[in-house]
This record gives sequence, structure tokens and C-alpha cells, in this order.
Amino acid sequence: PAWKKAVLQSAARQEGGQMTVLVTGAAGFVGSHVSLALKSRGDGVVGLDNFNDYYPVALKRARAANLQKAGIFIVEADLNDKAVLSKLFDLVHFTHILHLAAQAGVRYAVKNPLAYVHSNVGAFVTLLEQCKVSYGKSSNPQPAIVYASSSSVYGLNSKVPFSEDDRTDHPASLYAATKKADEVLAHTYNHIYGLSITALRFFTVYGPWGRPDMAYFSFARNIVEGQPIKIFQGPHGEELARDFTFIDDVVKGCVASLDTALPSTGSSGKKRKKAQFRIFNLGNTQPVKVGDFVSILEKHLKKKAKRNVIPMPATGDVMFTHANVTKARVALGYNPTTDLDTGLGIFVKWYKSFYQHGGSNEDMLKGYKPY
Ligand code: NAD
Repeated sequence: PAWKKAVLQSAARQEGGQMTVLVTGAAGFVGSHVSLALKSRGDGVVGLDNFNDYYPVALKRARAANLQKAGIFIVEADLNDKAVLSKLFDLVHFTHILHLAAQAGVRYAVKNPLAYVHSNVGAFVTLLEQCKVSYGKSSNPQPAIVYASSSSVYGLNSKVPFSEDDRTDHPASLYAATKKADEVLAHTYNHIYGLSITALRFFTVYGPWGRPDMAYFSFARNIVEGQPIKIFQGPHGEELARDFTFIDDVVKGCVASLDTALPSTGSSGKKRKKAQFRIFNLGNTQPVKVGDFVSILEKHLKKKAKRNVIPMPATGDVMFTHANVTKARVALGYNPTTDLDTGLGIFVKWYKSFYQHGGSNEDMLKGYKPY
């Protein structure tokens, strides 16, 4: 079928390419950026996404169109669909999996808790099972897996900055609980089945083609439209702070993780070393109070926000996040270089063209209200 041909073309490596990667969540914010970065250096890339309607599907379709232009095919399927996965793995020998598909967001769990179990736990186990059985009999190794965990696993940790060895036994939301569950599952699949797995704890990623459910995006939209924005405050008047991390820095971290995801070969070059399980923070190391963040956004949008400061609802947001990235610096050469002023300038430039869309496109966010 046409499907097969498109997948094989998309999976073909170009000059300079070393890997054949399955990117799950490829129509998502982070997935679309990393897919393009991998393709541009010659790697074979096949995407998978179910295009769910957690936020406007038109935005996911627009990202997918960018990928298609670059020669990347996205298989439209739910990751829980074992039959599709097994067909795909029979067709293509993936050397690496970049697993970014997930039910994101903290507040939506109040409305739809099972979406988190379905997409963050069920889909992850389905994928791990597929990797476990695939290519087992061939001389080629199983694919190395890199996947998105989250800074939310630190939960009610009060020690800053957050380091990978800190406690993660007190998640503050259902989203965080499923991301923590994934780390436990990943570690288990590593030691009982020998899969190489890397968990990346992202810290509030922002940038062009971002997620309209996230505060930075809805703040920009509300400021442009003259609507009030809600700024949450802690019980003692403390301001929320986030370690906002620019997409390009996160993309570099993902690519470096893939490049180092397979254990290096032994000195004979024949036998592979033990499968590895790794966890890295990918943050910016510079937490910014949300009020200050809004001021930078106002500067770039050249418009004042109508600030509505309210007590934080009990929906699972933590008061602050702050990454220590020493481990990723040493192992991956990860080096976040984009400060918030620069990154938000780039985001606003994109947002304005997206929002005005030259009158030629539909309004992708029409009627959309984030949870
Ligand atoms: P996103 O929602 O834009 O992308 C996720 C994509 O996965 C979406 O396109 C969605 O349609 C797809 N998807 C969801 N469930 C699926 C399923 N069952 N089968 C197939 N496809 C499915 O989110 P993002 O911001 O790009 O996040 C990527 C990853 O990083 C997620 O795992 C997220 O939890 C994690 N993360 C993101 C941030 C951030 O700030 N953006 C922070 C921490 C962790």
C-alpha cells in the first residue's frame, strides 16, 4: 500500500545520516522540532501521532505539513495499536526510538484522568514490549530508546536546584504520577530485558510552534486580544517561578541523547556493553518568576497585560522548578544558551505571523480555551 512506500522513503537515510529513528508524538511541539533537526542531518525519520484533540488539531496538522515538506511521513495511529506498531517494526529496522507522545498538561487530568493512563502508561508499555521483541533474532541490536519524562516528577521537592538523584516520591499531579511511573517502568525494562533507555526530564519548554494549552502561549494570546491573564500566587503571596527552556536547547539535548543512547561497543568492537539506563534534566538553570516573565512578554508584544493575580488552585502545579544540568553537561555536552528575553523574542515573532496568518489560513485556535 501507499503507506508502506511513504514509510520506507521517510525511513531512508541520506548522506551523513547514522540513525533510523521512530519519533512518537511527531506532530507535537517538541516532536516536530526534533524530527526536522534529525532529518536535516541525514537521519531516517518516521513519525507517529494520533492527532488527538487535546488542543486544536489544525495546529498539529500545520506542524505535520512542515514535516511532510521535509520528507517526513507521520503514521496516523494510536501508540496503543499493537498491530500498527508491529507492522511498522517489521517494515523498518529502527536503530533508535524518540518517544515524545504523551497526554501532557496538569489541569486536564481533573477532567480526563484515564487519558493519562492510556497515553502515558499504556502506550509506553506497548512501545517497550514492541522494542523488546523486535529484531531479537537478528544480529542487529534492539533500538535504543530516548523518551520524555518531566520536571514534574520532582513534585513537592523543596530542595533547589533539582538534581537527578533527588527524591521523586511525591508527585503533585496525576500527570506527574504517570511520568514517574514511566521512569520506574523504563528502569525495569532496562534491567530485566536489557533495553537501553534514556529519560529526559524537560523543564517548561517554550518556543515557535508551541503548545496553546501552556501558560506562555495563552498569555501571549490573551495580551494580544486584550483579555485578562491569570497569574497564580502561593498561600503566602509567593510568586510561581519556572525554569523556562527554549525549544532549540531541548532539541540539541534530545539529539545528543540519541547520539549516545546505545552503549558503546567493547574494545573488540563486537560485543556490546551492558544496556544503559540514564536520566537527565534538560532545563535552563535560570528560574524566572511568572510576573517577570509576563513583563518580558509585554515588552516583545508592545502591549500591557491585564494581570489578574489569584490564589493557586489545587490542580497540581508546583510553586517553582529549577534544573541542575551538570549531569547532562558532562554526558551529553548539553549547554542551554538561550536566555528568556531572546527566546521569547523569537516566540513572539513566530506568534505574530501565526496569529495574523496573512488572512490566508483558518484561525487555528478559533474558540479554543485551555484547561
Ligand atoms: P504535545 O502534546 O505537543 O505532543 C505530544 C503529541 O503526542 C501530540 O501531537 C499528540 O497528538 C500525541 N499523542 C498523545 N497521545 C498519543 C497516543 N496515545 N498515540 C499517539 N500519539 C499520541 O506535547 P510536547 O510539549 O511536544 O511534549 C512532548 C513530550 O514532552 C511529552 O511526553 C510531554 O509530556 C513531555 N514534556 C513536555 C514539556 C513541555 O514543556 N512542553 C515539559 C515536560 C515534559
